[in-house]
Amino acid sequence: MDAPLSAGLYIVATPIGNLGDITLRAIATLRGVTAVACEDTRVTGKLLHHFEIKQKLIRYDDHASEATRDHILALASQQPVALVSDAGTPLISDPGFKLVRAARERGIPVTSLPGPSAAIMALTLAGLPSDRFLFAGFLPNKDKARRDTLRGLATVDATLVFYETAPRLTDALAAIGEELPGREVAVARELTKRFEECRTGSADELVAHYSAHPPKGEIALVIAPPGEAAAIEHDVDALLRAALSIGKASQAAAAVAKATGLDRKALYGRAMELK
Ligand code: SAM
Repeated sequence: MDAPLSAGLYIVATPIGNLGDITLRAIATLRGVTAVACEDTRVTGKLLHHFEIKQKLIRYDDHASEATRDHILALASQQPVALVSDAGTPLISDPGFKLVRAARERGIPVTSLPGPSAAIMALTLAGLPSDRFLFAGFLPNKDKARRDTLRGLATVDATLVFYETAPRLTDALAAIGEELPGREVAVARELTKRFEECRTGSADELVAHYSAHPPKGEIALVIAPPGEAAAIEHDVDALLRAALSIGKASQAAAAVAKATGLDRKALYGRAMELK
């Protein structure tokens, strides 16, 4: 039996696909609070059911009325109350900011239980510099606004991380190719799930791939910082040269494609040039 929780707001990260990623502390907290504020009571109801947790659910998002926010905060000032989102870490492209801000203003204790977030997982998978990154949420879905956003970030000296949806992926990649030319891009898809993939390449290579294989599921995009492109090309050449010293161009392209996730056809073309 876990020790009773003190009053306050508990921000609880939940899995982004694989339920095995829930933390022991998240389970104990979701069990130990007196209510759970959540985006969608059906989604959170299913999650809690899976872990055999019975809880009072209160629907909450940042567009909720002041009255709903007041109600949750009044409870949290007396009892432990959790905030979860549909998946991943609350507040990260998800509701919670206004609630946390208001809780802090009122002196209500706030604590956060770390756990899954697609942005961080994508960054750790992409093989792009991870020492400095800028997470910019969802790219706008209108072409002009999307390009303006990308142009505004073009000189940021950091890896960029975005969330994207499958139907918009190729349009977003095409805009990235034009507004941030020469950058390596990673498409991190269906993370923690059965069809997880992290495919890297130039935006053009990725447009070609995903036009031929329309993607499904959830997607995070990771884009190399400015100045990385040249280094990456050089590395690819070195890998191809090494592979060419022991095999044919087609074998070299296949081996380097496997190692880097880059497009095999493009690598074959480059291998033929290097031969
Ligand atoms: N709060 C969540 C987090 O911490 O990752 C993000 C919520 S946001 C509303 C949902 C978006 O996150 C999706 O459209 C997708 O871009 C990204 N995402 C969520 N789960 C993902 C997954 N398993 N694989 C790739 N991207 C994912």
